[in-house]
Amino acid sequence: MVGAPWRELTIIQVTTDEGITGLGEVRMVNKTETLVAAIGELGNRYLIGMDPFDLNKLAWNIQFAEYGIPGEVGQSALAAFDIACWDIIGKKTNQPVWKLLGGKFRDKVPAYANGWYQGDRDPKIIGDLAKKVKARGYTGLKIDPFGAASAELSNEERRRSVSVLEAVREAVGEDFNIFLEMHGRFTASSAMLVAKDVEHINPGWLEEPVLPMDLHGMKTLRQNTHLPIATGERIHHSQELIPFLEAGVIDIIQIDLTHHAGITGMQKLAGWSDAYNVVLAPHNVCGPIGTAAALHFSVAAPNLKVLEHFNDFADPWVSEIVTGAPYVDPADGCFELPTAPGLGVELNREVCEAHPRTFGRLDLFSEGWEKRTFVSNYEKKS
Ligand SMILES: [Mg+2]
Repeated sequence: MVGAPWRELTIIQVTTDEGITGLGEVRMVNKTETLVAAIGELGNRYLIGMDPFDLNKLAWNIQFAEYGIPGEVGQSALAAFDIACWDIIGKKTNQPVWKLLGGKFRDKVPAYANGWYQGDRDPKIIGDLAKKVKARGYTGLKIDPFGAASAELSNEERRRSVSVLEAVREAVGEDFNIFLEMHGRFTASSAMLVAKDVEHINPGWLEEPVLPMDLHGMKTLRQNTHLPIATGERIHHSQELIPFLEAGVIDIIQIDLTHHAGITGMQKLAGWSDAYNVVLAPHNVCGPIGTAAALHFSVAAPNLKVLEHFNDFADPWVSEIVTGAPYVDPADGCFELPTAPGLGVELNREVCEAHPRTFGRLDLFSEGWEKRTFVSNYEKKS
């Protein structure tokens, strides 16, 4: 486990009897201890001794044979195993993983920046930070300007949020993508007010405008805004997605590969969700290993829109925990095509060891969370 102030990266390394190693990574949302326990329990039961090519059986074991419903933790442990096995498969066959996922659909993968607005919710401060994102070569960014809002926004907070967004639009220009993060904060009526407030800023999407399982809220919002709606980072199994797709309320699916059964799970999703004529913008808060997994998937997936990236602005040292970290080219704001066999990253253990666990977490409902400073109330009780 590698610790940053507000996130912990759980990394596994799997070794085969032929001596091939594969890396997997998950950034669990706050429940790192729980994930590590699940990796130990499920890994001993299913991973050790398996053929790394047998990924459908691995997934079936964890999703069906375990009997319990595959959720946030189990699907994330499975993702860690699956990513490491794909790394092994790529090395064994001497191919970058994307070549084994249907091949190259695109030469470069469009990226957008997150984690860049670590400042006060002041239009001037955030506008200046947005300029730095553009100067780094990105063509898109994401921002949650709503502070610690929960359920509703006061009129004052509505004006403040909009003024921050107006400053960002002013800073980056008309053609830059601004994706609006709402973190499931709002009731449907509050989300509708926000959607109306921000129309003139022309955001590329409204992300998690209501709680992720609030289908009725999504339907209500859908009928009252023309802005695209994105969601999915808190959906862990494809069956949870069906009602939203059937209702036609999602334009952009944001499922996180590391919480949704890994590359194998995302490949299945990319296949069947294609029938609903929607696009994918994978959620990605990982360090360089999980980002590499999402990148290989993104090279091959026809219905991909854009891939999230934190590591140029939040804890940029995390890229150094491997050699061969995914890189966003400043010339066009896209991830370069990985070419090495497997995921193309190798672990730097000394850098990992220099950043031990922090037990830090993200508390999106406390003032100042945007600064991503150290927050922890972890206390071992026994
Ligand atoms: Mg989000």
